[in-house]
Parts: sequence; structure tokens; C-alpha cells
Amino acid sequence: MYDIVIVGAGPAGLTAALYARRAEKSVLVIEKMTFGGQITHSPRVENYPGFKVMSGTEFADKLVEQVLEQGAEIELDTVTGIDGTPGEYKVVCEGATYDAKSVIIATGSHHRMLGLPKETDFTGEGVQYCAVCDGAFYRDKSVAVVGGGNTALQEAIMLSDICADVTIVQNLDFLTGETKLQNDIKEKGNIKVILSSTVDAILGDTEFKGIRINTNGELSDLFVDGVFVAIGQVPENEPFRDVTTLNEYGYIVAGETCVPEGAKEGIFVAGDCRTKTIRQVTTASADGAIAALSACRFVDSIK
Ligand SMILES: Cc1cc2nc3c(=O)[nH]c(=O)nc-3n(C[C@H](O)[C@H](O)[C@H](O)COP(=O)(O)OP(=O)(O)OC[C@H]3O[C@@H](n4cnc5c(N)ncnc54)[C@H](O)[C@@H]3O)c2cc1C
Repeated sequence: MYDIVIVGAGPAGLTAALYARRAEKSVLVIEKMTFGGQITHSPRVENYPGFKVMSGTEFADKLVEQVLEQGAEIELDTVTGIDGTPGEYKVVCEGATYDAKSVIIATGSHHRMLGLPKETDFTGEGVQYCAVCDGAFYRDKSVAVVGGGNTALQEAIMLSDICADVTIVQNLDFLTGETKLQNDIKEKGNIKVILSSTVDAILGDTEFKGIRINTNGELSDLFVDGVFVAIGQVPENEPFRDVTTLNEYGYIVAGETCVPEGAKEGIFVAGDCRTKTIRQVTTASADGAIAALSACRFVDSIK
């Protein structure tokens, strides 16, 4: 029986492990794919306090090392559900089942991808999913933003202050983002909008060159230095549908306390997988600390 089992080894889960170990709780972190989470896809992180620049993998390696040194255990497995009652949970995985007094769900989310050939090859090297994270690398350059919702429009406005020009490519014949953002876009002198268009291909063999656009069957090439894909995010919360409340987009409904709405006592949530407005390493780590300390208090209360 572990005091705390943490699902997901991204910044949220690993920070939670760090705090829980420092409170001398027994901790198991279960990760299905990449120790370090999404940030491992970023070649340059320049907005984590205290580190001027580092790669995502460098950051993840340091964090994993720190957590292991503190005595947390880590398993590679996929969690498929949580059974049991407060203080006696069963964390069910594909390979095994683990007993836990308390569980922290820190499964993150991933950006919806275009699903095109070369997209993964050029991720971080021309294909981006986060203007806040990577916009600064495109100073005075030409970029495209794919999508027409609030996120896409906000990203385009932010990029227009950094980049030489921004082209929004939207599949519908209208933008779906709020009117205020649409008006802001019109006022910017360097944002162009292409409607009724999809991205058919990513251009470039060894180096990203741009995107091929399909406008009602007519193909054209848009040569840009980077493309920011903003067509939504996909949280990974299906295994927890029975023990938490998911919103219409699949996020676990929870506020800054990291206590999921409708969950049994002793279940907490941290990081990108919960409802929140800013999804960054700093906010994920902050959640990890809050969730861990709440889990520690819960474990102490049932002793
Ligand atoms: C290309 C890119 C660049 C970025 N750049 C920056 C940046 O410069 N600065 C910044 O602050 N943020 C950046 N971000 C955002 C940042 O990476 C995320 O906000 C942060 O990683 C969220 O942490 P998390 O722990 O909540 O989730 P994640 O990092 O998504 O980690 C969740 C982990 O849970 C695992 N998991 C999911 N489901 C299960 C399951 N059922 N069983 C077991 N494990 C599971 C996943 O495999 C994953 O490893 C970037 C993101 C991307 C994609």
C-alpha cells in the first residue's frame, strides 16, 4: 500500500512526487510513455524561472533525477481506472494493480495535431503548438496559425507583436473566436486571414519550409518560417470519468485547490488535465505542490 500513487510523470506529477517524498510519504509515479511529459518535445524552454535556457529533455531529466534521489518509485505502465474507497484505492493499470491511500491524477493533455506526414519530424523545428512557449523564436519572421477559435486568434495577436507577419488559416468560412478578438485581428496591420482552407501538407524535406493549403480544392503553397497549430487540445481523462467530473472538453473540473468536483476524498488532480486557463510548466508544477500537500494531509488524517 503506497501513501500516494501519482498518475503521470509530467511536471505536475513529478513535482507532486517531490513534495510528497519530502513529507516522508511513500510514493509511486506511474507513467505510460515519456518521463517528463509534454515538455520533452520542446527544444528550448526559456520561461522557467531560474533557468535562462534549457531543452525540455534536459529539464525532464533533472526533474526525474531529483524525484528518484528523494526516494520516489517510478513504473512504466498505463493507468486504466481507479477503484476502491478513500484510504483504500486500487489504481488499475494494464500491467498491474497498485494499492494507494490517496491518488493524484496528473495525466496532462496534448495538442490536437494536424495528422499530416512530417508533422512529428518538424515538431519544435517549424511546427509549433504554443505561441506563449515558442513565439519568441520567430521574431521578425513569417508564421501561419492554423485554427479560427479563441486560442488561435489569441495566438495570432500575440505573434503579430513579435513576428513580421501572421497568416491565419481556418477551415470554416468564418472565424469562431469571440468578436472582440476578431476586431483586434482587423486592427492589426500584419495579420492576414485565409478562410475555407485546410492544410494539406507540410513542406520541406529535411528543413521546414511552409504549408500547402487547400482552398475549396485549389492548392497553394504558403512559405513561412513556422506554423502554430491551434486546433484544440485533447486531455487524457477517460480512465477517470467514473471518479471525477469531466467538462464538455474532457477536462477534470477542479479549481486552484486541485480537488476534483464530484470525486471521493483522497483523489486530487494536478496540471494540464484540469480546467484552467494557463497551461504551462510553472502552473503544472504549482498544481503538483498543492495536490501533494493536500494528499499528505489526507493520508495523515486517516492514520
Ligand atoms: C512543443 C511544446 C512546447 C512547450 N513549451 C513550453 C515552454 O517553453 N514553457 C512552458 O512553461 N510550457 C511549455 N509547454 C507546455 C508544458 O509542456 C505543459 O504545460 C506541461 O508539460 C504540463 O505538465 P503536466 O504534468 O500537467 O502534463 P504533461 O506534461 O502532459 O504530463 C502528463 C503525463 O501523464 C502521462 N499519462 C497520461 N495518461 C496516462 C495514463 N493513463 N497512465 C499513465 N500515464 C499517463 C503522459 O504520458 C504524460 O507523460 C510546451 C508544450 C509543448 C507540447
